[in-house]
Amino acid sequence: MSKYDYVIVGAGLYGVVFAQQAKLKGKTCLVIDKRSHIGGNVYCENIEQINVHKYGAHIFHTNDKEVWNYVNSFVEFNRYTNSPVANFEGELYNLPFNMNTFYQLWGVKTPQEARNKIDEQCMEFADKVPANLEEQALKLVGKDIYYKLIKGYTEKQWGRDAKDLPSFIIKRLPVRFTFDNNYFNDKYQGIPIGGYNVLVERLLDGVELKLNSDFFQNKTEYTKLANKIVYTGMLDEFFDYCYGELEYRSLHFEHQLLNQDNYQGNAVVNYTERNIPYTRIIEHKHFDFGNQEKTVITREYPQEWDKTKEAYYPINNDRNNKLFATYKQLASQQNNVIFGGRLGDYAYYDMDKVIRLAIDRFALEKK
Ligand code: UDP
Repeated sequence: MSKYDYVIVGAGLYGVVFAQQAKLKGKTCLVIDKRSHIGGNVYCENIEQINVHKYGAHIFHTNDKEVWNYVNSFVEFNRYTNSPVANFEGELYNLPFNMNTFYQLWGVKTPQEARNKIDEQCMEFADKVPANLEEQALKLVGKDIYYKLIKGYTEKQWGRDAKDLPSFIIKRLPVRFTFDNNYFNDKYQGIPIGGYNVLVERLLDGVELKLNSDFFQNKTEYTKLANKIVYTGMLDEFFDYCYGELEYRSLHFEHQLLNQDNYQGNAVVNYTERNIPYTRIIEHKHFDFGNQEKTVITREYPQEWDKTKEAYYPINNDRNNKLFATYKQLASQQNNVIFGGRLGDYAYYDMDKVIRLAIDRFALEKK
């Protein structure tokens, strides 16, 4: 008998939801994290009473009613709706691509006029089977939107030519023929009132927690302490990179406290041209409809990843997906380890998906 039913490596959403579910069923858990705080990348830092999303903007959205009810049972969510604005060479456009954007681009006023314009823009790509992101985008929205609102942003974000990127990335962006600036199509959306830390703290209520603790520094001891390990870090690191390294995309954030109450009038402004080095500026107070006297803004710079940097996005190209599959094979032979989360699964998950997977994974455990 070990001291804990589960030692959970990583206090991000997957780990803390798993812990909450386990605790509910009377299981004992120890959650450890190498960082000095809980929440993984949803963690917020309070600066001048503003919840600053330290690791990039997190906007909760889901179609999964159970997950929505689940998170709302811990904290109330506000009515924030993500409506980013894009700045291309000083001109502003609404996102996602909708009637407002089409009016701003072409002066078209009706859905029919907009459809005609897009059809005209896409005509020459209609018969092509898209082999990459560029071809997919040109086929979906045509040249103007692609060159003004997609190409520069995407190439900055991924550090690669759009012709070398998989087309699925762009399928995240909706196209609409209504005057609707809501970025997401999901039924439910919002930000926890009081910030994400409130949600994570409540999920962890009554669960033992050890921060500043690197699993790999004491792997043998932690393994002895637990009947099972729940590992939410990078899968290749767990196996000491024995087959080689998976690649990730990293981000660098520059936070700035400004002596003014409203810098850009919106939580998210994307900079879609190639030669501005950041992809977006976040003004955090607008996530909470804040009326503080000051404001905090964050410039988000994509950067190459190496082991000294945080891994934010998996790069799901053929090479990495194959390599991941070989690690997954090794993982399936580990009876007492559960792997999960964005890093453990090497998948571009949204928050609701991570919560769903953690709930479902715990449900598979023997009672
Ligand atoms: N994207 C784009 N222009 C934009 C915003 C997004 O072309 O102004 C594309 C880009 O390829 C990006 C993808 O849409 O990688 C997903 O962006 P989103 O902001 O939804 O992703 P997040 O980083 O928030 O997960």
